Amino acid sequence: MSVMTFISPALRSETQDLTALSAPLSIAERQAALEIGRGLVKGARARANERPYLDAFLQEFGLSNQEGIALMCLAEALLRIPDDETADRLIAEKLASGNWDSHSGRSDSLFVNASTWGLMLTGRLVELPDELRGNANGWLRHLTQRASEPLVRQALRRAMKIIGSEFVVGRSIEEALQRSATDASLALCSFDMLGEGARTDEDARRYYDAYVAAIEQIGRSVDGSLHQRSSISIKLSALDPRYSAIHRERVHERLIPRALELARLAAARGIGLTVDAEEQDRLEISLEIFAAMAGDPTTRDWPGLGLAVQAYGRRAMAVIDHVTELSRSHGRALAVRLVKGAYWDSEIKRAQERGLAEYPLYTRKCSTDVSYLACARALFTASDRIYPQFATHNAHTIAAVLGLARTHRDTAGRAVDFEFQRLHGMGTLLYDEARRQLTDLPRVRVYAPVGPHADLLAYLVRRLLENGANTSFVNRFMDERVPVAQVVTDPISEIEALTTVEHDRIPLPSHLYGPSRLNSRGVDFGRRSSIEEIGQCLRSTLTLPSPESRYVTAGVVETAFRAASLAFPEWRGRPVDARAEILERAANLLDQSRDAFLALLAREAGKTAGDAIAEIRETIEFCRYYATSARELQGRVSVLDGVTGERNELSHVPRGVWCCISPWNFPLAIFTGQIVAALVTGNTVVAKPAETTPEVALAMTDLLYRAGVPRDALHVLPMVGKEFGEVALRQPALAGVVFTGSTRTAQWLNRALAARDGAILPLIAETGGINAMIVDSTALPEQVVDDVLSSAFGSAGQRCSALRLLCLQADNADRILEMLEGAMNTLAVGDPTDLTTDVGPVITASAAADLERHIAQMCQRGRLRKRVAISPNTGSVPRDRFVSPALIEIDSIGALEREAFGPVLHVLRYRTEELPRLLDDLRANGYGLTLGIQTRLDGTRRMLFEGTLAGNVYVNRNMIGAVVGVQPFGGTGLSGTGPKAGGPNYLHRFTTERVLTINTTATGGNTALLTLE
Ligand SMILES: Cc1cc2nc3c(=O)[nH]c(=O)nc-3n(C[C@H](O)[C@H](O)[C@H](O)COP(=O)(O)OP(=O)(O)OC[C@H]3O[C@@H](n4cnc5c(N)ncnc54)[C@H](O)[C@@H]3O)c2cc1C
Repeated sequence: MSVMTFISPALRSETQDLTALSAPLSIAERQAALEIGRGLVKGARARANERPYLDAFLQEFGLSNQEGIALMCLAEALLRIPDDETADRLIAEKLASGNWDSHSGRSDSLFVNASTWGLMLTGRLVELPDELRGNANGWLRHLTQRASEPLVRQALRRAMKIIGSEFVVGRSIEEALQRSATDASLALCSFDMLGEGARTDEDARRYYDAYVAAIEQIGRSVDGSLHQRSSISIKLSALDPRYSAIHRERVHERLIPRALELARLAAARGIGLTVDAEEQDRLEISLEIFAAMAGDPTTRDWPGLGLAVQAYGRRAMAVIDHVTELSRSHGRALAVRLVKGAYWDSEIKRAQERGLAEYPLYTRKCSTDVSYLACARALFTASDRIYPQFATHNAHTIAAVLGLARTHRDTAGRAVDFEFQRLHGMGTLLYDEARRQLTDLPRVRVYAPVGPHADLLAYLVRRLLENGANTSFVNRFMDERVPVAQVVTDPISEIEALTTVEHDRIPLPSHLYGPSRLNSRGVDFGRRSSIEEIGQCLRSTLTLPSPESRYVTAGVVETAFRAASLAFPEWRGRPVDARAEILERAANLLDQSRDAFLALLAREAGKTAGDAIAEIRETIEFCRYYATSARELQGRVSVLDGVTGERNELSHVPRGVWCCISPWNFPLAIFTGQIVAALVTGNTVVAKPAETTPEVALAMTDLLYRAGVPRDALHVLPMVGKEFGEVALRQPALAGVVFTGSTRTAQWLNRALAARDGAILPLIAETGGINAMIVDSTALPEQVVDDVLSSAFGSAGQRCSALRLLCLQADNADRILEMLEGAMNTLAVGDPTDLTTDVGPVITASAAADLERHIAQMCQRGRLRKRVAISPNTGSVPRDRFVSPALIEIDSIGALEREAFGPVLHVLRYRTEELPRLLDDLRANGYGLTLGIQTRLDGTRRMLFEGTLAGNVYVNRNMIGAVVGVQPFGGTGLSGTGPKAGGPNYLHRFTTERVLTINTTATGGNTALLTLE
């Protein structure tokens, strides 16, 4: 089926994007919106006693205080914890973390505290005794001390359910429809079957079935014309676990048919169906799906198909134009629900992580408000085709939209049919007040989530954030401490008063690290144009010579050391700034040559696109970070404090010729990181790249020469490691060794260095580890599964930081394993030049055979739970280089004796009381590289961090991909010597410290002291 595609507009600055929106309101409309909006707030405040209890409660415990955050943590985790012991610990910890008394001195906050807590704890509205009303801390301490008692646990679980149920209309669609039939405020709903972000095909099937059942039920139980009937909202991420722009083909094969079926069913039942808006990097692909739905001739006469559009997105106006065009070209009416957007904070973080050129959304709230109004205006203009639905809880937005509707009516000579929408549990009082004050308020539909508590959490957290954020209208709406004039403001005037539209405290991703260095450029995998560009690089035919044909003979090693030694005086004599500039030039050159390196990494090292891009970025960051660090270290002498009449200067000088030995798993980043660290501090280098990846190394060497590194200062010798080591470590000019690779080779190097006569030389070694992730029952299974997949199987498990041993608390192990196995089923293992591949080959056929032997051995000691099928398409890579990801359950750490460097994950269950022993066992293996922790318990996190040897500990996230200068990387014990690569102390080891002490009084007297004022 051919579908009309949405092409994202070219990237512009935020200022340009905002300026392109034509002035959404006239002066008169602005004035009226302010007056009406303020009137609504005043009216609502006068009826404060009618607001729901929890409304006041949520406002009091917002995100600006410890107690609100503690409550959010409880709400996010408590209900999913299966075991009482862990639930009790979470309760005790979170209640102890707040200063609950601080909420008791405020106006009616006593009511907020006492009665609402009472309501939540007992399920009934109770009058608490006076002594408790006045002493929230004492009361909660009392609770905390008794937190192991089932009563308190049950009470708090109920409390969290009450918070949750504020936002949910029913656990099932039947319950929700029943409520809607009897509660007038819920008569017109858009039901949302909770559940999003399917991780497995089974999840997706379950969510799809729930949508089907809900559409059937809604269709049967409500009457009226389409826009007067309750409708359904769907999330595309619930319908397929691989819903992303990269998986376009799969989206067309699996997701589009499901979306079409749902739309056809809704059309047949005569109810509306809106596609919710999710992350910005799914925008283009979501529009492709929507276009397919809009182009479906079988539903053409049904005007109920709708799309949510996020005004915070800088492409919002382009999306509205696109939907209008879809409507025109298919000759059908569509609906648009305009929202501001619910994922602002996570979008900003994601854009920073990905090093995007621009944020895909506005960075100031007032810009989003202006965008919303501009989009609203466009929707009215298109209202002959598009049915506008305005979702907001903001009094100013309501007033301004009504103003636009009136203007449109006056100019078009006819009234527009449109509606407002609010979320269940929010905006009740505001719309009630609007209904009283405004005669032309149209119908108001309630977005009504339906589902069990287990599926509520992601939604609930977004609602708590929205209620708690002080930029939110709802957070300040009823707060008497904030004057009405500050609650309802004119966003256009706010923009006009700004010096920059871009938020001054949210730097562009490229400027994340301040003025000293640029962040590396990433790829926007949400844009089809970027995906196509990367796909083309990967497909480029590249024939590489055999690695062996590049090898030099051992005789060259000695010559190289001699030449490097001769080059040392000149190179060290250059100002550090000149050397740093060469690194910066190299970084820029590599950025420009990204595509060539991408193809090379895929071809020679079997890297997938994501891994190759990450590696290129890391290399660029090493160059920039070490350039900055070197300027700091060597750009000036440090003058040390001491007695008067004396000057003490500390300086760091280079050591001489460094030997750099790098591995094949990061043939670009580690190879370059070692070399440029040595070079920038004034040393010269003889480097040996990995045997299997000489092409990448030679291409980078050439780039470094082009950037200005003198050929004599850097000698790169592809050859067999053992032959190189034996000659290199005997060279008199050798001043230090930096090595990344196996522990065994590091120990060999250490012994060889110790056997030398003469100066004792430094060795920086980074080796491997048996890295674990410890997951307790407070962790979110979806997040655990995402993080385990990327940590264990990303880069085909060939990272020294990769996860090898997953330790699951027995209470939720089955649930996580089931989800993990389901998610493993969706992994694509095959041709690394195919963008959809998740797991590429391992480095050689013999490495693959070795891994298979390990798997066979471990299966005898434990139980094989899962292996993933290898795709028939392995591209130009021989099939014997592929190892299908394996999951093996073992019952003791002892069963895992060595690091298996590939996509093999071992899993072990533990009981809570065994955690300290588990930690001891992990320490006993002597490795200390990375540790993952997934817990919401601060106490557990602290205990594990203090008890581990691991050099890098990651909490509630994946445990790979350390960022240069942000997460300095390196282990302890058998895992390495430090200092950490990409950290502030790394360059020190490449230098020697010298101190110059001058008696400044010797040449006369203490002039400095005598001339003191
Ligand atoms: C019926 C309904 C359906 C919804 N469906 C969706 C959906 O499909 N997808 C979705 O994402 N959301 C959806 N939402 C949630 C919606 O995005 C939020 O409720 C909405 O953003 C709150 O806006 P407001 O006008 O009520 O409040 P306001 O307080 O006026 O606006 C708050 C919003 O401003 C934006 N914002 C805050 N700070 C900044 C900043 N610094 N820079 C830029 N923007 C900022 C954010 O979008 C934030 O949510 C829906 C809401 C409703 C009522």
